Amino acid sequence: MPGTLFEKVWSLHTVRKLPNGQTQLFVGLHLIHEVTTPQAFDMLRARGLKVRFPDRTIATVDHIVPTRDQRRPFGDLMAEDMLSALERNVREAGITMFDLHSGAQGIVHVIGPELGLTQPGMTIACGDSHTSTHGAFGAVAFGIGTSQVRDVLASQCLAMDPLKVRRIRVNGRLAPGVYAKDVILDVIQRLGVNGGAGYAYEYAGDTIAQMSMDERMTICNMSIEGGARVGYVNPDETTIDFLRGRRFAPAGQAFETAAAWWRSIASDRHATYDDEVALDGAAIRPRVTWGINPGQSVYVDERVPVPTEAPAAERAAIAEALEFMGFDGGQPIKGTRIDVAFVGSCTNSRLSDLREAARVVRGHHVARHVQALVVPGSQSVRAAAEREGLDRVFTEAGFEWRGAGCSMCLAMNQDKLEGRQICASSSNRNFKGRQGSPTGRTLLMSPAMVAAAAVAGEVVDVREFANGD
Ligand code: SF4
Repeated sequence: MPGTLFEKVWSLHTVRKLPNGQTQLFVGLHLIHEVTTPQAFDMLRARGLKVRFPDRTIATVDHIVPTRDQRRPFGDLMAEDMLSALERNVREAGITMFDLHSGAQGIVHVIGPELGLTQPGMTIACGDSHTSTHGAFGAVAFGIGTSQVRDVLASQCLAMDPLKVRRIRVNGRLAPGVYAKDVILDVIQRLGVNGGAGYAYEYAGDTIAQMSMDERMTICNMSIEGGARVGYVNPDETTIDFLRGRRFAPAGQAFETAAAWWRSIASDRHATYDDEVALDGAAIRPRVTWGINPGQSVYVDERVPVPTEAPAAERAAIAEALEFMGFDGGQPIKGTRIDVAFVGSCTNSRLSDLREAARVVRGHHVARHVQALVVPGSQSVRAAAEREGLDRVFTEAGFEWRGAGCSMCLAMNQDKLEGRQICASSSNRNFKGRQGSPTGRTLLMSPAMVAAAAVAGEVVDVREFANGD
């Protein structure tokens, strides 16, 4: 029977069907970090259990690390405690950790792929919602909670409900100034933030096929924002070329053998899907969120919605979002004054994102009233960007050039909005309070759009901006 990649990978990793209808699924790779593991290790200790497969577990530190001064001990004692606990736990369990001295530390969803840990056909779990990022490689990757982190540490298995598969086909050439971020914001706006509940999203079509791995990671990263726990792209030559020579990828003949298998686990031509959706990639324009969830976005040349003109079921949510954001229904999103510009997060902090943002700001200066920061996703991204001189482009333009970490995506560190500041952000969530201030406001957009907004001091259309396309 022809099958989807999801069905093949799920089946290959099924240990057994459980009496309650769930599947006991083997987890090929468990990525851990400082936030969702301390309790899990404590629970293991309390039961006298050991980590079952330390060699299938990889640790890094990302959420709480300061990005301005990373010397130890950290000024924030709680952050210092969390990192110390992780260091102790991985040492006792014999788990490899990419720490601040490794040269490879960074956001867990950035370092997994760049180290070649993330490979097609794997099951990957991590105590973080945006684990779906790794699906860009044709892995079945999903976020888990602390009690599930405990389960994976103890057994390398999880009890999981199977998912249906929705194929989302995007065809057509993206216009200049339109990026993967705009595509995924478009998908979420159309299908809704809960539209993917119970589904894995398979992204297909020639727009996706032409994307780099960085772009595919941006797409898969935000699957969870559309309610889909898993998002993936079938592995192809772009995937294989990316992995060749990476530190944890197979080498020599073993790589060619692996590559042949990776090609074979792609969805079959005649596979059947539980649902299919088609999008015209050529019609997508730069998107900006105006509300308090990632589904509330408009094209940059559009106006925010008017509650009374919306379907009755959506009016209350629109009114609540407009009130929080301080917008009047029907006002243009373009021209919204910003206070902070943030290029970073596991969605958009890779080298290609930084290159695009630098291209936009080169020769310009950040607006006087804007604080602008660039936070590379990993130490490797930071070093590569510095080799290209991107750090100088940013600092000469008035951006702060920071150390790798999650930074202002979640603000579990010193990078926080203050009061009702508005932030143009390349991150993935615009929830109330997400960036550290309960009243702070987030406008999600592509890194190029963030860069243009930083210079203009307000939301602008990157397509109309000097250097913008
Ligand atoms: S960058 Fe943001 S979404 Fe990504 S892992 Fe860090 S906190 Fe989570």
